[in-house]
Amino acid sequence: MSELGFSDEDRQLLTQLRRDLHRHPELSWQEVRTQERLSRALREGGIDQIMPAARTGIVVHVPGRDAGAPAVAVRGDIDALPITEATGLEFASEQAGVMHACGHDVHASWAVGAALLLARSPAAGEVRVILQPAEEVGEGAAAILASGALDGVHAIFGAHVDRRFAVGEVVAQEGPLAASTDTFTIVLHGAGAHGARPQESADPVVGAAQLIVALQTIVSRRLDPALPGVLTVGVVHAGRASNVIPELAELAGTIRATTPDSRALLCRELERMTHAVAATHGLRADVRISEGTPPVVNSRDGAVWAAQAVRDVLGGRALVPLGTTNMGGEDFAFYLEKMPGCFLRIGARESGGERIAAHSPRFYAAEDALFIGAAVLAQSARVASEALRAG
Ligand SMILES: [Zn+2]
Ligand SMILES: [Zn+2]
Repeated sequence: MSELGFSDEDRQLLTQLRRDLHRHPELSWQEVRTQERLSRALREGGIDQIMPAARTGIVVHVPGRDAGAPAVAVRGDIDALPITEATGLEFASEQAGVMHACGHDVHASWAVGAALLLARSPAAGEVRVILQPAEEVGEGAAAILASGALDGVHAIFGAHVDRRFAVGEVVAQEGPLAASTDTFTIVLHGAGAHGARPQESADPVVGAAQLIVALQTIVSRRLDPALPGVLTVGVVHAGRASNVIPELAELAGTIRATTPDSRALLCRELERMTHAVAATHGLRADVRISEGTPPVVNSRDGAVWAAQAVRDVLGGRALVPLGTTNMGGEDFAFYLEKMPGCFLRIGARESGGERIAAHSPRFYAAEDALFIGAAVLAQSARVASEALRAG
């Protein structure tokens, strides 16, 4: 593999940073040590325009060659998960019950690496490097936007490590890449009765049972079969005694979609069907849908710029198709609602390694993914900045 623009010192700094972050993971909104450690690494790398943003995040201003050229951004997320690590890595978590099981140790490190590369070989315009907290709870991106750290920025790039792909393979494509993640709770209000006298009840247990089955027809009968969607009921609570019909039944679950229209359709149909099934059983329904992250949809321009960057850094053979859409969520979606950009998948499986899924206690990213991600993101910023300047 080529040096990708890194000196030996850079490689050492980034490797140590990644391993240190992995050893000391911090949960969403608690990334205090992480923030300090990232600032230190940036300063060690000669970067000085470092500002805190969104409480435990950082925004780095890397000047461009031309003060008048449009600014672009590179984002790495930095938080960890409440999972007990089982990788057996030499630099495994020393924090009981907390783990970088989603690879954000690598994402944070490659954002620092991108800053180093861009400081040495600047883009046309300024690049803001965003170290974003609280991705796992879906709150950090909105907080970064609210902080103003991206004001005046015209495009944004970010990426995720992915062990479905080998090191050296990269996905940079237009369209949906990850799903929206809305959650719902439903309370069915009935009338309780003795279990032997159902005629005196409005039974929320039977209503809930029929509703759970009916909800499964939203994806199969209402959604265009060419579009991915998921509606999962993950929580069912009703009753405490075998001979009592309870007053209430509660359901909760998650709704996943890959376009704004299909997302709206699934939410609308969930409400409609819940009220209809409840009415059939003489029940009253309260439906609450809380909006999570939108679908991640890469813009055409963003994908073209990112794919060009992959060709520049790794050669055209590195580009691979996503295959099936990931129905997980990613709060990078909030940025892509505001500006063009691309969220890439960076292959993170070493040769002979397993396809371990993110959020597994055995998940980790191969170390070389760190340098590839940094180089591709830095180059994406350069390509986009040049294209935007040319108008
Ligand atoms: Zn995650
Ligand atoms: Zn993640």
